[in-house]
Formats: sequence, structure tokens, C-alpha cells
Amino acid sequence: MHYRKLGTTEVDVSIIGLGAEHLEHSSLDTITSVVDATLDGGVNYIDLFMASPDVRDNFGIALKNRRQRVMIAGHLGATLKNGQYSRSRDKDLCEHYFNDLLSRLQTDYIDILMLHYIDEPDDYERVFDPEDGLLALALRLQKEGKARLLGMSSHRVPVSLQAVNSGYIDLLMFPVNPATDTLPGDIAIEAAFQASAYQQSHAETSMASRSELYHTCAARGVGIVAMKPYAAGWLFTKGNPSSIVLTPVQCLNYALSQPGVCTVVPGCRTANEVKTALAYLEATDSEKDFSAIDTNSIWKLQGSCMYCNHCLPCPVSIDIAAVTRLADTARYAGYTRTTKEYEALPVQASACTECGMCTERCPFNVDVVCNMKRAAAIFGR
Ligand code: SF4
Ligand code: SF4
Repeated sequence: MHYRKLGTTEVDVSIIGLGAEHLEHSSLDTITSVVDATLDGGVNYIDLFMASPDVRDNFGIALKNRRQRVMIAGHLGATLKNGQYSRSRDKDLCEHYFNDLLSRLQTDYIDILMLHYIDEPDDYERVFDPEDGLLALALRLQKEGKARLLGMSSHRVPVSLQAVNSGYIDLLMFPVNPATDTLPGDIAIEAAFQASAYQQSHAETSMASRSELYHTCAARGVGIVAMKPYAAGWLFTKGNPSSIVLTPVQCLNYALSQPGVCTVVPGCRTANEVKTALAYLEATDSEKDFSAIDTNSIWKLQGSCMYCNHCLPCPVSIDIAAVTRLADTARYAGYTRTTKEYEALPVQASACTECGMCTERCPFNVDVVCNMKRAAAIFGR
């Protein structure tokens, strides 16, 4: 397993995590086998947003005596109404479900407390009221030692940017995949399933807004927990609305290549699906190469670096994707962190000989030589 820093903390998080959404109605045996495969693979991050008692109980049993090996993200705002999932902003009800989570998981703390599913501006204002919103409850639980880090889950760019810039959250849980990344930042997640949403007329603005969010997270040290990396699995299927077809490994690499992403949490139903995700760790560069996203002409046209490294090898061993990503992030705040990461690269952009081999290989028409010069100018070498 490879690990990255969790936001600005010194905590190491596995780059592959587990989204437990699809296990809500699974048996104890299934959940235990998934947890076994997860922990055996070195995964140390599980997102458990659901409020159903059975799934909470089953995870509690499956994690017994190994709770310390994993970080658990629980969600404040995910509750039940008449036995069905329901979003709530009622502080008493949310605290009841939070305490229920602790008790069923047989633990006395949650590693990451996510303010759950905030997409609308008025909902953001209500939840992020530090005196009276769910945020006030989250801060109290944190003060009491029942929650360690704070996060927010969302599907839309505008409120996510507000939260990231608020200084309150350590993590942002956000969908990251090459299909939804072409959609407008304020689109409802349900629209991603309709072919009519994928239009070139708005693609450039859409991509710019999502790119701004990812780079802002990277610059401010807010870690992105990338959810929905497979776009609900339809990125594996020909004829899906986005026209992009990729393997699980390619999808995971896409998410992990975006700025700010510290872990990706594919939803897994079985131990085999966990192993499919963990295959990323053994995959070759060509198996990880996601440049096939250019089957969606929106990607082909846009001319910005997608950090895919399809242009390698570079004769002087520049990691072109990493250099370009850091130079792009430097446009936003947070130069110190970005410079530190740049200095840690084995080869800097100033080593570029302008041979042009990378530009010939880039499927996205990126002027790599220009990007290397820009990076060298920004970082001074
Ligand atoms: S320059 Fe092109 S091929 Fe290289 S990382 Fe960027 S998008 Fe990928
Ligand atoms: S142009 Fe520069 S970055 Fe591209 S392959 Fe040649 S040396 Fe490497």
C-alpha cells in the first residue's frame, strides 16, 4: 500500500480506501470478508455514512480488536426516517445517530466527522453556522474528543469552495471521475446519469471550476477524499452517457492524479471488489494510463494537462504530470506547501532539454515545453 498525508495532518492515509455504501444491506459474513480484505491490503480509511443499525453493528463486530488499524469517517446529518435514509439538520437527532454510531461500532471516537451531503448554498449557510448549525455540534464533539478531524461531503463546486475556504474542514469528500469532471460545478449529481448533460458548450467552464476546487484544496491543505471514482460503475460500460470506458485501475489512477486527492474510496460490495481496487498497487504504468478519456471529445479539445503521464518517458526523467500539477496549483494560495513538494521531486523542470518527444505523445495537445518553462520560472529551477 502507498500512503499520503491526510490534509495538513501528519497522519498517513492509504491511497485506496473503502466506501461502504453498497454494504448497507449485506450480511455479517460479507462485511467481515470485505473488512478482512481491506485491512489485509493495508487500507486504513473506511467511509461509513449510513445510519442503518445492522450495517453499523456488523462493522463493529468485523472491526472488533482491530479498530485502531483503521480510520473511520462517520457522517453528521445521515439519519433514518421510517427506516429509510434521510438527511437531517436537526442537531439533537444528528447527535443521537452519532452516539448510535459510536455505540454500534464499539468505539468512543470517530476519526473523521463529515458534515453530510451539503450541496445547496442555503443549506451550507445553515449547517456552517458555528453558533447554531451542525458545525457547532461537530466542533463540540471534536472538543469532547469524540471526533478528531472535520470534513464535509458534497457533490457541487460552489459550496465546496466555500467550505474549503472557511478554514473549518480538514477534508472534502467529493466525486472525482473523468465523466462528472466535464459537468458544470453546480449541477445536481443525478444529472450526471443523463447523456444530455455532457455538452461541449459548457465543458471548458465546467472543467475550470472543478480544477479550481481541486487546486484550492491542494493549496490550502484540505485533503480530498475522492468518492464515486467509477461513476457508479458505468465508466466500465460501453454506451454510457459520457462515452468514456475505463478499467477500475484507470479510474482509480485518474482520481489519484488530481490535485489535493489523498485517498480514493471506491464502493465495494465484496472482498473480490476490494481486491480489484487493490490491483491498482501492482498495475503497470500502461495499465494505469487513463488517456483513453479522450474518447470523450470534450477532453480532446480542452488542451490542458490531465496529469496522466501518457507523454512519458522523458529522456531526463522529469515527472511531467507532477511538475505540471504543482505549477498549476501554485496559481492558487499555498506556495509554501507546493514549493516543498516540488523540491522533493527527483528532477525539476529546468532539466528540460526541449526535445519535444512528450508533446508528440500527449493526446490532449498540451504544450509541455511551455509548461516546463512556466514551472521552472515559478519555482526558480
Ligand atoms: S502533458 Fe499530456 S500526456 Fe503529459 S501528463 Fe499532461 S495531459 Fe498527460
Ligand atoms: S521536452 Fe522536456 S519534458 Fe518533454 S520529454 Fe523532452 S526533456 Fe522531457
